[in-house]
Amino acid sequence: MSKKYCYLFTEGNANMRELLGGKGANLAEMTNIGLPVPQGFTITTEACTQYYEDGQKINDEIFAEIMEYIEKMEGITGKKFGDMENPLLVSVRSGARASMPGMMDTILNLGLNETVVDVLAKKSGNPRWAWDCYRRFIQMYSDVVMEVGKKYFEQLIDKMKEARGVTQDVELTAEDLKELAGQFKAEYKSKIGQDFPTDPKEQLMGAVKAVFRSWDNPRANVYRRDNDIPYSWGTAVNVQSMAFGNMGDDCGTGVAFTRNPATGEKKLFGEFLTNAQGEDVVAGVRTPMPIAEMAEKFPEAFAQFENVCKTLEDHYRDMQDMEFTVEHGKLYMLQTRNGKRTAQAALKIACDLVDEGMIDEKKAVAMVEPRTLDTLLHPQFDAVALKESKVMGKALGASPGAASGKAVFSAEDAKAWAQRGEKVILVRLETSPEDIEGMKAAQGILTVRGGMTSHAAVVARGMGKCCVSGCGDIKMDEENKKFELAGKTYCEGDWLSLDGSTGNIYDGAVPTVDATIGGEFGRIMGWADKYRRLEVRTNADTPADAKKARELGAQGIGLCRTEHMFFNDDRIQAIREMICSDTVEQREKALAKLEPMQQGDFEGIYEAMEGCPVTIRFLDPPLHEFVPTEEADIEAMARDMGKTVEEIKAVIAGLHEFNPMMGHRGCRLSVTFPEIAKMQTRAVIKAALNVQARHPEWDLVPEIMIPLVGELKEFAYVKGIVTEVADALIKEAGSSLKYKVGNMIEIPRAAMCADDIAPISDFFSFGSNDLTQLVFGFSRDDAGKFLDAYYDKKIYENDPFAKLDQHGVGRLISNAARWGRSTNPDLHLGICGEHGGDPSSVEFCHKIGLDYVSCSPFRVPIARLAAAQAAIKDA
Ligand code: ADP
Ligand code: MG
Ligand code: MG
Repeated sequence: MSKKYCYLFTEGNANMRELLGGKGANLAEMTNIGLPVPQGFTITTEACTQYYEDGQKINDEIFAEIMEYIEKMEGITGKKFGDMENPLLVSVRSGARASMPGMMDTILNLGLNETVVDVLAKKSGNPRWAWDCYRRFIQMYSDVVMEVGKKYFEQLIDKMKEARGVTQDVELTAEDLKELAGQFKAEYKSKIGQDFPTDPKEQLMGAVKAVFRSWDNPRANVYRRDNDIPYSWGTAVNVQSMAFGNMGDDCGTGVAFTRNPATGEKKLFGEFLTNAQGEDVVAGVRTPMPIAEMAEKFPEAFAQFENVCKTLEDHYRDMQDMEFTVEHGKLYMLQTRNGKRTAQAALKIACDLVDEGMIDEKKAVAMVEPRTLDTLLHPQFDAVALKESKVMGKALGASPGAASGKAVFSAEDAKAWAQRGEKVILVRLETSPEDIEGMKAAQGILTVRGGMTSHAAVVARGMGKCCVSGCGDIKMDEENKKFELAGKTYCEGDWLSLDGSTGNIYDGAVPTVDATIGGEFGRIMGWADKYRRLEVRTNADTPADAKKARELGAQGIGLCRTEHMFFNDDRIQAIREMICSDTVEQREKALAKLEPMQQGDFEGIYEAMEGCPVTIRFLDPPLHEFVPTEEADIEAMARDMGKTVEEIKAVIAGLHEFNPMMGHRGCRLSVTFPEIAKMQTRAVIKAALNVQARHPEWDLVPEIMIPLVGELKEFAYVKGIVTEVADALIKEAGSSLKYKVGNMIEIPRAAMCADDIAPISDFFSFGSNDLTQLVFGFSRDDAGKFLDAYYDKKIYENDPFAKLDQHGVGRLISNAARWGRSTNPDLHLGICGEHGGDPSSVEFCHKIGLDYVSCSPFRVPIARLAAAQAAIKDA
């Protein structure tokens, strides 16, 4: 049997999102539970994939099926494409599996032409409406299907408004709109060189292709990369008969959330615009009314809507984000989905739903997006400084956060400035999907137009980015890159600050302080800890980081980098002395200076970790990182070391390597200079002995980690040095201190030989940064230069340094883990690269049976939640 590419809304359901996309599956589900949905059908994601397989063509089979479903739809609605009595108008909407707000384009009122518009005008007695629909259709079709560009049409509308002396679209008459439609078609012809298509079926196929094509547009690709959505999924297309919100003042269109998406408060939240259609609400063309006002002005439709909200929440057991239209007082539902929300709202909604008996703890844990927690942990404005700061204006707090930066006026500028390391606030009249990369680069977003559900607000909340929207007091001059607010002119580069919770706009840069973590956060984390199996550690090099990580729930340190301690002014001297030493004796003397400092550092970290395990990694970077490059510094070093400048330069030249990342570093340093390993062992063991003596209630087991191991004998040699020194110290102290010696797996050879090394190693820690680098064969410092081309060509979809390459690097890790355990069943296994805090990578670590992940302090809660979600999914 051949594949089925089309489904009526009555044939689908919510579980079919892979095939029908989120929008299509939910339209079907709403139809099934008896809600008022304009009927239609969904063309599957498989049709999209097939379209790309066929070289961007809709094949005969799919074409025939679409035509068959149009006929079915005509039967259901009693309307017909191009009919002189009862013409069918449809919307053509994209809908991927995961919602991608503002990413794909929608076409409304498809099916219109000069003849049909006359029929509609006469039959309805409402020519204004008919021509409004037509001009909108020409505009959207030209933009989306033919890529003529919105701005030409907007300019024509502005000109028309000016000529008529009106400010609002709704003030234009039927005649004006008719004239506009004519101008639009002329514009189309001049740009495309052909007449605007009149055959509804031809229009439909053009629109369907455009939706398929939009799956591959640059902003969709960026959004997918940021949100882990694979390119291979494709998008579905929904063809739906129109409901009209633009037929007069008893009509309108709205968007609403069943709960507040910024705070989580259990109260209907949304906006409604009378006599309007489609994107008017979100585009910020006119300022909509709050949903509460709709209750007064449209009591009947509002009552229907409230019922629908309750039905939907009970059905989906989650906060819903809905789109609807009122046509002559009657409600039509156009979309529902689990609403995007801020981290703060996500926590509150999850806890509330548990308290309301709607969901259980596991479901609550599963419904909070781990990576959004990041925003809660980030700095807030310093309350004292805030009081003293000047409030220049107030608008909608559309997405929480505290942002300070220099004003920029376009997405390109935001990106360019941010690349230079500047903090920027993107100030726009309104944002559009093309601005997405600029929004990402900015600290915060400020818009003149638009409400809580405007594009800027929705996208900013999705990114966890601070956004203040709809500041009508701003007098904007985008062209000259400046704006005026409360009597002050802000030019490009001027500092301002935004509070995304209150909507306040401040002059200058307001200082920030660390965030405090509220009760719901603790509740969700408590549940997460109950269900996860993976242990979560942190990467911390200082007592301060260690303390922060403990507060955020770290159960230990998985990576303490000792070299970071060597860069302080008082230490760099000693390490340089060590580097310049000609004899072992000289080197030992220099190292002896470092030892007490290093020991002190370790004691501080042990204290901060309160008895939790701490893995200390021995010196890792190549030594050239410690020597100066500037002439003056070299001279100073010569003086300090009692050597000539030439001698120092000779030492530095001797350290030069063509490829330092693959050079004399890691345990290779201990092989050539065993004194270094000896010193570090003494520092670790003495610190542990001291702290253990101070805290008999703790059971310290220091963990020493040897980096860059590639071979059993190499590890055995270094481990031999460690145990000899450690055992002697412990014996001398008359202590029974236990310690562990393990190694990093970051050289592919070590992974391949994991079963050789495991019998003499207490633990493996996968150093996924170096491992990724060496498995791919490219340097993480240079890859940025060419990876963009790889993303554009879909060779790689993600940065493998941010998201673990599960197929390649991941397979090596999983095999090494298995091989290691095969010869040492007690081997403790963890990961300590950047990936330890990336949710999908954490899930992978859970699946392959690692014991722990280790990540930077601020990502510890993310890892705890992701680990719990992985365990819940797995159960
Ligand atoms: P997005 O995913 O960007 O929200 P949608 O496909 O949901 O795009 O549609 C954009 C706008 O058009 C929404 O406001 C929606 O309510 C409106 N719309 C879509 N289909 C119809 C329809 N059949 N009748 C009336 N309005 C519609
Ligand atoms: Mg849209
Ligand atoms: Mg929508």
